[in-house]
Amino acid sequence: MFNKSQEEKIKHLETPFYYYDLALLNTTLDQAKAAADKYDFHVHYALKANFNDRLLETIQGKGFGADCVSGNEVQKAIDSGFPASKITFAGVGKSDKEIRMALKHGIFTFNVESIQEMEVINELAEEEGVVASVSLRINPNVDAHTHHYITTGLDENKFGVPTSELEKAAAVIRKSANVELMGLHFHVGSQITDMNVFKSLCVKVNEWKNWFEERGTQIKVLNVGGGLGVDYQQPDAHPIPDFEAYFAVFDKFLERSAQQEVHFELGRALIAQCGSLVSKVLYTKSGIKKHFLVLDAGMTELMRPALYQAYHQIERVGGDHAQAATLNYDVVGPICESSDCFGKEVPLPESKRGDLIAIRTAGAYGEVMASRYNLRDEIRYVYDSEL
Ligand SMILES: *Cc1c(COP(=O)(O)O)cnc(C)c1O
Repeated sequence: MFNKSQEEKIKHLETPFYYYDLALLNTTLDQAKAAADKYDFHVHYALKANFNDRLLETIQGKGFGADCVSGNEVQKAIDSGFPASKITFAGVGKSDKEIRMALKHGIFTFNVESIQEMEVINELAEEEGVVASVSLRINPNVDAHTHHYITTGLDENKFGVPTSELEKAAAVIRKSANVELMGLHFHVGSQITDMNVFKSLCVKVNEWKNWFEERGTQIKVLNVGGGLGVDYQQPDAHPIPDFEAYFAVFDKFLERSAQQEVHFELGRALIAQCGSLVSKVLYTKSGIKKHFLVLDAGMTELMRPALYQAYHQIERVGGDHAQAATLNYDVVGPICESSDCFGKEVPLPESKRGDLIAIRTAGAYGEVMASRYNLRDEIRYVYDSEL
């Protein structure tokens, strides 16, 4: 992934660090935008995937909106130049302070996840003397067929209003003077690569949209969430997700009326491939049955493998690959937890102390989940323009 001159420069940098390829990010954003524009679809970027300043600046500059899941993310989006009219605020546990702040900014809409939250927003909006734009997050009971930690649209999940309560939710909205229904919101999970999942989602969206319209409630916005997956196995073969195919599914299967807008909230698909975690081999260990590479990066820098057994491609940076014999390594970090392991039996050229290792596809849910556990250093990052 790096050319020779970049490799030379990296050798002299302090590791570990996140490397961000802004050129790839730009191309990814352009392709996503072009594919969405074809159908007049609106895309909001899910800040929680990565809120690194340079990345946000780039995304904002391309005209994307922002999807936030905390008050601080709303504030960050505003500070990064996203117009309030393009900011949505989702999350099952919005505090009063966060709701008030978002009301003051006059954000586009709150994605409301329970009837009680709807009542609270109505009360707080009344106190602030405003009418809050709300969208109802419906839990459509669609199985995203992905890891259970990143599945959000099943009845057993904590997210959204279950369909059995929609009658009551609609009644609460009707009698609440300080909320106005903007749309319906759905988000069924993350790292979804099977387009049939999105097709099933469209069927549910149509069903519930019709349900509201039959009851005389007009729906301006259909927000179908995010969740489009990326290729963790082959980042070089598929650096950019197939946005054309993704948006085409929604164009084909969503039954939207002429004045209805369709909104998306993509996180991972926009940002994952442009980031890599670059680390150095501190030690090599050979046990009775195993070879280990102990890196200077661990779960404190990239938690996905420890948190949900996520796969990341691990590769050697530089060195003469052709000459070295290949060994299967368990690639581990320095943190005092057995789950601090990036991959087991990973085939890599025989390695030594000081060799550089890149952990690929780490742009989404990487840097943002970094922690100071074990009193680790603050995370560092490097952009392509600096190499
Ligand atoms: C996390 C999240 C997203 C983004 O999900 P990706 O899989 O990164 O696209 C979108 N909408 C909501 C409500 C979320 O919580």
